[in-house]
Amino acid sequence: MGGRPLLNRRLDGLGTTIFAEMSALATATGAINLGQGFPDTDGPESVREAAVRALREGRGNQYPPGPGIPELRAAVSAHQRRFYGLGFDPDTEVLVTAGATEAIAAAMLALLEPGDEVIAFEPFYDSYAACIAMAGARRVPLTLRAPSFRPDLDELRAAITPRTRLLLLNTPHNPTGMVLTEEEQQAIAALAVERDLLVVTDEVYEHLVYEGTHRPLAALPGMRERTVTIGSAGKTFSFTGWKVGWVTASAPLVAAVRTAKQYLTYVSAGPFQYAVAEALRLPDAYFDEFREGLRRKRDLLAAGLRAAGFEVYLPEGTYFITTDITPFGEKDGYAFCRALPERSGVVAVPNSVFYDDPQAGRSQVRFTFCKREETLEEAATRLKRLAA
Ligand SMILES: *Cc1c(COP(=O)(O)O)cnc(C)c1O
Repeated sequence: MGGRPLLNRRLDGLGTTIFAEMSALATATGAINLGQGFPDTDGPESVREAAVRALREGRGNQYPPGPGIPELRAAVSAHQRRFYGLGFDPDTEVLVTAGATEAIAAAMLALLEPGDEVIAFEPFYDSYAACIAMAGARRVPLTLRAPSFRPDLDELRAAITPRTRLLLLNTPHNPTGMVLTEEEQQAIAALAVERDLLVVTDEVYEHLVYEGTHRPLAALPGMRERTVTIGSAGKTFSFTGWKVGWVTASAPLVAAVRTAKQYLTYVSAGPFQYAVAEALRLPDAYFDEFREGLRRKRDLLAAGLRAAGFEVYLPEGTYFITTDITPFGEKDGYAFCRALPERSGVVAVPNSVFYDDPQAGRSQVRFTFCKREETLEEAATRLKRLAA
């Protein structure tokens, strides 16, 4: 094969995700896995039963329609209207995807030309860098810095060049828990309009905001026609294995994203689409209880981490807490996370893997709190060994 590397240059350095490494470590050591963000309890029983019913009744067992089943597209549209007052035509402005992950990939592949620049908050969700690279584009980080992780809007303005095509935003933000404020959203929207940029916003944690409120960027003046909004049933209904996500955007943007999406998976998750259509119509009480339950878990784990000696950055949203290990006299989060299962029986993830600059975020470590309260209490007890 001519001595040429098998992996193409675009994907060079992307390796395997940190979650594979840390989850393997959790299995090998029997440690509590607070590394990867998946709940250890399934979502609502009624939603699970809806999937079983669809499967038994033969709904979705064969290829569903390319844009998603009409019931789910209608439910996504109704959800955007009910929570945000946004109207999207279920036939032309909604697209069902294989999780938010496929929506991100399809959006990057559809909307970018090689050489385009994409500005994204750093630390990045790990698939962003890969998808931007697969599209042949270049990522430009806008670094969120501790302790507040607020975006610096002057830096954003300065980062925009004539090659900038797109802002890839994420609010609530994984891993920092930052939630964009109304003023920040207005400033970002004004810049996007002024510089005529496309915006892709990953809003998979839209229902997990503990301070302030979530508002889609698409709701701001001038944004609807330039914004692709991404949601997911994985995070909102605690069925991360189903991989049902969706896009809402103007018809031309949806058509572009669909063009790429149809050659990635074509379609997916037939019976689950019926179940998610029901889930999106659950009463407000579901969404309120889900959020309040996770708020209690956040507070429980935050208290445990503080007692163990971490510096804790309390998140405004998502199901992650970013901490700093400097109080332990340590600086290297990667080494810390590799040793943590042996030292205290808990697995976490170093935030440095979410940065381009390996020095940035070097002493930060992320824990998830989307686990049972007993599990979080046990993790807190184990982590106290660090304080000893
Ligand atoms: C989990 C996650 C995703 C992936 O969502 P899926 O629906 O499971 O593909 C995308 N973006 C962020 C920020 C996430 O945390």
